[in-house]
Amino acid sequence: REDVLRVEGLSTRFFTGEGQVNAVENVSFDVREGEVFGIVGESGSGKSVTGLSLVDLVGSPGEITDGELWYRDAELADEVREEFPDVVDGEYVDLRGVPESVRTSLRGTSLSMIFQDPESSFNPSLTVGEQIAEAVEVQQRASSRPRSTRARTDGEEYSLGSLVLSFALPSRRYVSEESRERAIELLELVGIPDPVERADEYPHEYSGGMLQRAMIAQALAGEPDVLVADEPTTALDVTIQAQVLDLLSELQAETGMTILLITHNLGVIARMCDRVGVMYGGEIVERGTLEDVFRDNVHPYTEGLLGSVPDLESVGGSLDPVPGNVPSLLDHEMEDRCYFADRCPKAMEACLERPPDTRVEADGDHVVKCVLTDLEYGESPPLPDDHFETEG
Ligand code: SF4
Ligand code: MG
Repeated sequence: REDVLRVEGLSTRFFTGEGQVNAVENVSFDVREGEVFGIVGESGSGKSVTGLSLVDLVGSPGEITDGELWYRDAELADEVREEFPDVVDGEYVDLRGVPESVRTSLRGTSLSMIFQDPESSFNPSLTVGEQIAEAVEVQQRASSRPRSTRARTDGEEYSLGSLVLSFALPSRRYVSEESRERAIELLELVGIPDPVERADEYPHEYSGGMLQRAMIAQALAGEPDVLVADEPTTALDVTIQAQVLDLLSELQAETGMTILLITHNLGVIARMCDRVGVMYGGEIVERGTLEDVFRDNVHPYTEGLLGSVPDLESVGGSLDPVPGNVPSLLDHEMEDRCYFADRCPKAMEACLERPPDTRVEADGDHVVKCVLTDLEYGESPPLPDDHFETEG
């Protein structure tokens, strides 16, 4: 399978009163067409910011400060090649190198994002059907002109499932019967019963699970190639979670879309993903196939995460992993060493000397960031027991 997205050296920082927060630090991974790529980690590990970075929705005071986001789109590559030759590589375009208007135009039609909290994606004063129809209309207008020349027009700045959306929508009824019908079709596609009637209801009349489905319908209005789903089922009860995950799998099978699934839940990863990246302290510390990460894992953090989950088959299994706190990502508090050293049962003196390199394991796709993969460090003495008490 070909890569649809190649993330290279992505760093996203927040410039706050307390200092610079390195939320995402030099993260690289590739996502293949039609797969589910998972990003798993505790809260505060940088996984949501990674997702937001991909759809260009990192709001101020956050900013992508480094890296390349290569997205495969032959048509777009042809459109921008002449004007921006440096950011085109065959069929791939580095989205960081094109004007913001191009990135905005891709949102929804190429890359779409859904969130944990569907309420934030809907305007409470418009019916669900109207809002999905609006998404359909905006995407239709957008796809009728070349992306590189698409200007942003007020009221048209539609961003799927984003916070921007609710406030940018003009309040009006359906513009066309066609978009209304498409909205109903989309509601039906995501398994909303009686979609004709439910389309005329307001968001508060939907249950949490139904609204989550409606948000997925909205995200699919532009037939995106890649769906970034950030904790899409976390707010739901266990039975509904399983139903929404099944829905995502079915939709993927039907449409061939690629899913980037962000979650703290290893059960969800085990159930859904082909490959996975484990995030800790803003970095991907291990990534590979499900088998690499679940069975042949090397990084002690991955090992700790897996050890904390009694039953991977249970989607409801929560992640309460390794003892200790997640590291501060404030720039002036970050030290030149492995960020996991204070919690790592295998920590050695070498782990405090400098950050571990990212090393490639066996088959070239299993990547680990830990000195254990470096034989040179094999002789490094373990840390004394009091290390954990004094620093943890
Ligand atoms: Fe543990 Fe050292 Fe590996 Fe960090 S580099 S995860 S402290 S063994
Ligand atoms: Mg999050």
